[in-house]
Amino acid sequence: MPRSDRLFVDGRWLTSADDRFIPVENPATEEVIARVPHGSADDVDRAVDAARRAFPGWAATPVAERARFVAALRHGLASRQEEVARTITAEMGAPTKLAMTVQSGLPLQVLSSFVDLAGSIDQTESVGNSLVLHEPVGVVAAITPWNYPLHQSIAKIAPALLAGCTVVHKPSEIAPLSACILAEVIEGIGLPAGVYNLVSGSGEVVGEALAVHPDVDMVSFTGSTRAGRRVSTLASDTVKRVALELGGKSANVILDDADLDGAVKVGLANCFMNSGQTCTAWTRMLVPASRHDEIVDTVTATAAGYTVGDPSDPRTRLGPLASRAQRERVETYLGRGVDEGARIVSGGPHADGLPDRGYYVAPTVFVDVDPDATIAQEEIFGPVLSIIRYQDEDEAVRIANNSRYGLAGAVWSADRERAIGVARRLRTGQVDINGARFNPSAPFGGYKQSGNGRELGRHGLEEFLLVKSLQLP
Ligand code: NAD
Repeated sequence: MPRSDRLFVDGRWLTSADDRFIPVENPATEEVIARVPHGSADDVDRAVDAARRAFPGWAATPVAERARFVAALRHGLASRQEEVARTITAEMGAPTKLAMTVQSGLPLQVLSSFVDLAGSIDQTESVGNSLVLHEPVGVVAAITPWNYPLHQSIAKIAPALLAGCTVVHKPSEIAPLSACILAEVIEGIGLPAGVYNLVSGSGEVVGEALAVHPDVDMVSFTGSTRAGRRVSTLASDTVKRVALELGGKSANVILDDADLDGAVKVGLANCFMNSGQTCTAWTRMLVPASRHDEIVDTVTATAAGYTVGDPSDPRTRLGPLASRAQRERVETYLGRGVDEGARIVSGGPHADGLPDRGYYVAPTVFVDVDPDATIAQEEIFGPVLSIIRYQDEDEAVRIANNSRYGLAGAVWSADRERAIGVARRLRTGQVDINGARFNPSAPFGGYKQSGNGRELGRHGLEEFLLVKSLQLP
């Protein structure tokens, strides 16, 4: 385990002004494995002050040198990848394979992609008699969740540093330990003091102190729509930039000519990945009435093959949920689904074969789900799929768009152009056609209440830049 009992502020490991700690629990064993400081508003002041003082020097550092630090960060995290994966498995329950490939592997790809973009920052544009330049936003508060703790942090910190911003990072109190490894790596590469600061603590104390702080120029927030709304409200007093990456309730639209085996296999894997604790999870499977029963049979057979258990066992496909509260939340939704008339065909609240200890929920499939039912409208954040039938393409699009969210989605068809046509009609930030792979350089972000920011690639970098125009004689 990394060192976790201090804050990292101004290049040093400091004790918090608050002498309390937050315990970190392993959700597979229910044991406390570490503790992090319960950071205070005074700690936030110290960290923001350090970031503010470091800003002019970092912003003036040539982009090529900033990019060298980002590359060194990648190297440092790569050399500790297994430890990062083990730590994330221990703090939030991701199975070993997912922890290596996505939890600790994806951040490395994202870091590389930002190093490759360094050349774009200094590029200028001429508009008539004006020269248009890009400059760093300033001090950035990065507030991050527990479901992909390192990835969500790197998706903010890498572009912020590259852009010339300084950062105060508040990781999730549920899974804060990979951020401690990140801070150790940052210390090891010799990033100038104050450029990156880590303040652990609760959202209500540390998160809110950052959102209202007059010396924070931007909040980049990933988490629930509930907390994002609160951050936005608090930040509005100081008119700071706010980038929100929030929840989702994404639709997997299977058209009547689709390859059903592929659509079901990939659709379930997407919905259940990370025990369903993925903002982009395709939790609504929209199926044509003409093929409904066939699809339900394939889904049920496929779901039965998912092994749930100890996340450190390499054969495990689904680990526990990240916390007791998360399991209670998901179980409440399972009950609500049944109460509102949907039928469980796989898993469910009383499924057999789950370990006695740990916050496990069986992967669960509901059929006969009304598109307006609670389980079809609210983000459950657990391994729960709702199958919804539709009569024709127009109805499929209507149901898919019948959501306050708009983060991700999928369309499957034997005819690629037909699938693209339907994808264009979906009010959502990204759509995967026929199971196409994730692209870590493509813009990522929400429509509607899934957020207003964009992360990753050039669009993600631009979030941390201001635009200035010089009028030339
Ligand atoms: P959460 O909103 O409870 O917490 C996220 C972060 O915000 C944590 O660091 C938390 O301490 C902080 N926070 C909580 N209340 C706050 C407040 N009042 N002021 C300031 N900060 C506050 O979310 P979570 O449970 O950690 O993560 C799950 C949620 O995140 C899901 O809704 C999921 O969809 C969303 N998410 C979105 C994306 C995306 O890119 N769109 C990615 C991952 C997760």
